[in-house]
Parts: sequence; C-alpha cells; structure tokens
Amino acid sequence: MTAEHLCCDVAVVGAGPAGLAASLAAAEANAVVICIDQFPRAGGQYHMQPNASGTPFANTPQVQQGQQAIQACEAANVRFLTGAELFWAEPPKTPDAPFRLHLARDDQAIVIEAKTVVAATGAMERPMPFPGWTLPGVIGAGAGQRLLKTSGATCALPFEGKTVLAGSGPFLLAVASTFAKAGQGIDHFVERQPAALWTKAKAMLRHPSRLPDAIALLRDLSRTGARRHMGAIVTRAMGNGKVEAVEISPVGANGQPDLQQSFVVDGVGALCIGYGFQPVIDLTTALGAAHSYDLSLGGWYCGVDAMSGATSVSGLYAAGEVTGLGGANPARISGQLAGLHAAATCVKETSGLNDTAIQAIVTQLNKHRAFAATLAQLYPMPESFPVPLAEDDVVCRCEDVTLADINAAIAEGARENLAVKMWTRAGMGLCQGRNCGASIAATLREAGVEPEHTGYNRSHFPLRPVSARIAKEALTCEFSPD
Ligand SMILES: Cc1cc2nc3c(=O)[nH]c(=O)nc-3n(C[C@H](O)[C@H](O)[C@H](O)COP(=O)(O)OP(=O)(O)OC[C@H]3O[C@@H](n4cnc5c(N)ncnc54)[C@H](O)[C@@H]3O)c2cc1C
Repeated sequence: MTAEHLCCDVAVVGAGPAGLAASLAAAEANAVVICIDQFPRAGGQYHMQPNASGTPFANTPQVQQGQQAIQACEAANVRFLTGAELFWAEPPKTPDAPFRLHLARDDQAIVIEAKTVVAATGAMERPMPFPGWTLPGVIGAGAGQRLLKTSGATCALPFEGKTVLAGSGPFLLAVASTFAKAGQGIDHFVERQPAALWTKAKAMLRHPSRLPDAIALLRDLSRTGARRHMGAIVTRAMGNGKVEAVEISPVGANGQPDLQQSFVVDGVGALCIGYGFQPVIDLTTALGAAHSYDLSLGGWYCGVDAMSGATSVSGLYAAGEVTGLGGANPARISGQLAGLHAAATCVKETSGLNDTAIQAIVTQLNKHRAFAATLAQLYPMPESFPVPLAEDDVVCRCEDVTLADINAAIAEGARENLAVKMWTRAGMGLCQGRNCGASIAATLREAGVEPEHTGYNRSHFPLRPVSARIAKEALTCEFSPD
C-alpha cells in the first residue's frame, strides 16, 4: 500500500470546540480546510458525541452544540478526517513549502500537505502518582467520565464495588454530574481543597452568568449520594491485583496529608482520580514552536500572539487548551481567531478579518479567560506530588521507572526532564512522556530545580505508537506536482 496524499490550505488538528471553530472560520473565509481527529467522531472532550442513542448523554446541550458546530463545518465544506491519528509533523523545508502532517487511519498512512496548520490538540489528564496508583481499577477522573459516556445503554462503570471520585478542581464536579446523569452513584467524593464556601461564593459572584452552572453541578453531586470529604486526599490505593480499598487523609495547613488522621474505605471497585489537566503540546513542540510554563494554565503551553493565535513558527497557529487551559468557551473563541488568521495567510479573498471584528473576538476571549483564571485560583494545581512517594513507587509506567531510579539520576547530575529520560528511560515509552513529564518535573522540583527550568519532554518520532509499515509509507510518500 502507498500513503494517501491530500492537500489543503488549512489543516486543523483536533475537532474539539477550538478545532471546530477554527475550521468553520477558515472555511467561511474561503480556505480549503481539513480537520483531523483521532476519535471516531468530531467533538473533542466538551462536545463528545455519543456512540449510542437513547442514553442520558445523547442529547445534552454540549452534544447538541457540538452537532451544530459539526454540521456548520460540513455545510462550509470542511473535510473531516476522524479516526485519524497524527503521529508526526514536519515544518516547511523552505519558506514557500507546505507543512507535512503524517497520519494513521484504518491501517492506512495519510500525508497531508498544508499551507498553514492550526494546532487545536486540547488537553489531557495530568496523572499524579501516589502509592498504589497503578492498580487496576484506579483510573483518571476523565477516563471514568469517558467510560460512562461511551458505555452505551449500560451507563455504568465496568467495576464492581464502591466508587470513589477524588482529586481536585472544578472538573471533578463535571465528572460527578456525568455520574448523576448516568444514574451511577458515587460512594465517596474526596476534594483536596477545603469547602471554603464563602471564598468560592465571592469569587463566583464576580461571574454571575456562571452561577446557574455552578449550582447545577453541586446539585448533581448531591444526586450521586456521595459522602463528601473536603480538604482531603486519597493517600493510598490498596488491593490484591486490583484496587480494593483506599486510604483517605485530611490535608493539613502545610498542604501535606495528615496520615495520623487517615481512614480506610473498604470494598472499593473503582477509584477515579484527577488533579486537573495539561495542554497536549506534542504537535506544537514537534513543529518547533516556543512554549512557556505557567502552572495556572496547566504547566507547559504553546505561546501565541493574543490578537491572531499565531505561534512563533510562521504559518502555525494554535487555539484552545494547547495554548493554556481555559475551558470550552476560550477554546471556541480562540479557534475562531486562529482559523480566520490561518485562512488569511494563504487565501487572497477572505472575509471576517477586520480590526473591529478581531477586537470584538479578543475582548470575548479575555472575558472568558478571566473566569478560567478565577477557577485556577480557587483550585490551584499541585506542583509537587500531592502524596509523598516511596522510593519503589513507579513514576513512569510505560518504562517501569521508579522514584528511586529518577532520584539516582538526579543525584548523578540530571537537572532537566531530558537528562532524566536519557539516564533512566522515563518518558521514552509509548506515551513519550505525556503521562510522566509533570511527575519527572515534580521530582526535579523536590531536588530544587523549578519546573520552568526542567523543560518538557521533547517530541521524537513517532509522537504516537504506529506500525513500522505505516510510518515508512508516510515518510517515504512521494508527491507528484499538481
Ligand atoms: C478527559 C477530559 C474530559 C473533559 N471533560 C470536560 C467536561 O465534561 N466539561 C468541560 O467543561 N470541560 C471538559 N474538559 C475540558 C476540555 O478540555 C475543554 O472544555 C474543551 O473541550 C477544550 O477544547 P479544545 O478544542 O481545546 O480541546 P478538546 O476538546 O480536547 O479537543 C482536542 C482534540 O484534539 C484531538 N487530538 C489531539 N492530538 C491529536 C493527534 N495527535 N491526532 C489526532 N487528533 C488529536 C483529540 O482527539 C481531541 O478530540 C475535559 C478535558 C479532558 C482532557
């Protein structure tokens, strides 16, 4: 087989709120647009489309808004390539040359030549190791949500026993809401931040339009029947071959768990745990864009020009969570901004790109980003491990690298994620450091190196696991001049 070869003006990677808005804006500005997503259906995380009708998730406002956005894109002739995973990307070799994107879809290699690229790759869960985190039944909070949303008519997690939802951040409430809609109970809800109701209410009053959503989420949490433990964390998962019990401890004034006050919940079948998200920066780093570090934005993110979404690489734009966490609204608006500008760089006759329109978009974006900043203040992400690890705890589960291995590398002089990777193989496995990068940085931080100096895990070929045949076909694809 040979690779399929496609060309376009604007290739949008990611079909979430940011990618859909970018695709529509670029297509309406007369660009030929291809929108790529690894998932079988467009929509991304927020607009995730159901895989079965008749479930409680088939017709939510998020799904309906997503359907409308997808239909609008289709009507504007956006070509969707779903179920297509981008595993490598090359910047233009000369100023007039296109970007080259390498994809795998249904056992077929696809190579796209694009004049401009919009990276809308979103965010992913930020796994934080703790004793017992690799036991089966311990999953990300987002994974729990996805399992429920895609479980079809059963609408249940595939685990027997009590369910514990733990971690920190407003996303936990969104997950609890999914549980409530699925009719799946939660036994224990464990939130690292203290209740601090007055502080939260005061902060929310600055964004009154968001109050109904917040109240609905709290109501949904009540509907799950969960016993709430505020200002507490799960300090250990225990079990023989799978999670059977979890230890919960209050967090002291010093931010550390007070193990003297801990208690154990038995009969657990599922622990869904999440301490927030991090931007997915593998594409933007592969293309050589400049990145910055800000924990309140999820750690390392792709820097963009505030008025256009342009990155430091000519022709590469970025939008949504990859430019710093903010949620669905900033993702959608920044997508529109990036799509308009991406189209304008390669299409002579564009519409919608005038100073007044752009200023109005940027004003909206800043308003929604301000709300995200409020949430980030209320739920600060832990920079270090929320629970002290033992030396034999695994940090990189792809390559089975323990805390002791990483500490040994640091003792020998490793001061950056890359150096730890060379010493220990942490970050060299299937996930290419997407899962363990923040944990390696947290370990380095305990040795006195601040995360902005540890760097991120550099992208190497291939970004995602792919068969050698597809990789070869994509990389050796010859292009006939058209
Ligand atoms: C697990 C999870 C669950 C979430 N659930 C909620 C929720 O319930 N409510 C809420 O308000 N917010 C939720 N969020 C936050 C969410 O990130 C934003 O609200 C919103 O979806 C961001 O839009 P986006 O377009 O930037 O990214 P996304 O919606 O994440 O879209 C990015 C898309 O890029 C695709 N992609 C990335 N890399 C590649 C690649 N190499 N090849 C092909 N495709 C690729 C992904 O498949 C994804 O569909 C969730 C985030 C995560 C990570």
